[in-house]
Amino acid sequence: MAGTLRLPGFVNAHSHTFQRVMRGRAAGGDFWAWRKTMLAAAERQTPQLVRTEYESVYREMLGAGYTAVGEFHYLGVAEAHAAAEAAEAAGIELVLLHVAYARGGLPRFRQESVTEFIEQVESLRAAGLAIGVAPHSVRACPADWLDEIGAYAAAEGLPLHVHADEQPKEIEECRAEHGCRPIELLARSGCLGERTTVVHATHADGAELDLLAATGATICACPTTEADLGDGFLPAERVRTRGVPICIGSDSNVRIDPFEELRELEGIARRQTGRRGVFSTDELYAFGRDVGARSLGLEMWPEIDVDLGHVSLAGVDEEHVTAALLASCGADVVVRE
Ligand SMILES: [Zn+2]
Repeated sequence: MAGTLRLPGFVNAHSHTFQRVMRGRAAGGDFWAWRKTMLAAAERQTPQLVRTEYESVYREMLGAGYTAVGEFHYLGVAEAHAAAEAAEAAGIELVLLHVAYARGGLPRFRQESVTEFIEQVESLRAAGLAIGVAPHSVRACPADWLDEIGAYAAAEGLPLHVHADEQPKEIEECRAEHGCRPIELLARSGCLGERTTVVHATHADGAELDLLAATGATICACPTTEADLGDGFLPAERVRTRGVPICIGSDSNVRIDPFEELRELEGIARRQTGRRGVFSTDELYAFGRDVGARSLGLEMWPEIDVDLGHVSLAGVDEEHVTAALLASCGADVVVRE
């Protein structure tokens, strides 16, 4: 085969772009050791650094087939504008998921009050950025912040993204503070709905998955990062049987490759079930594109071209190309501009 095949672009629904520089650092440490290294990387960010480094990583994403990205951003308002400029220069569609952070982390992550957070969101919207609201986690946001942010997102029709159930320790702390699990607290706070995306949900139990299904919320799976951090597996089959939509994110950007994220997701499901084809090729492509776009509130995002003459497609029949891309190709099969 020769020539190229035009396909819809992939949507990266969850990225912390500054973490791209951390590859190989804290390689042997546990999640909390990794987090310490991450906080040091976050501390050194400036608007100038975000402007240059994010443009370079966004160009990598485009080269890998992601044409839209949800930037889960907690580095400050000036840095949010810098991220938007970087995306514009690179040519990737950006939805800035502005993070609410009440406690923990670094001082630069935090707002004084939920009112200050909403003022920041309003100023970014007024500047023309595509915005979603992102209470960081139940670890970082108390219940009254979640109540207010849930109500604001619903009233304004904005996407709401939140980390939940990534690590067992976070669940124990939530039970101690609130007497319930993280996704149950999100439900109680009015944070679950069709515009909600719960990032990870790795350790969600059956009742929490039922809540996601009942409210129409989406899960964003980030398999290469979850593997790197030792988070565990998304309970893929239990998510599938409940019909909870799944999208993908490159998260810590340890890998930037949508084919690999989708292959990992299906691989996890196969290892868990002992069956092949738990998700169909069409379902996996939908996770990588339409579900991600809906999660970010995007209607349009650019297409990509795939190189049919690429060595990894040699000997593949034309009718099997789209399945072979997911089964056996890496992002280098995408034609770079
Ligand atoms: Zn994240």
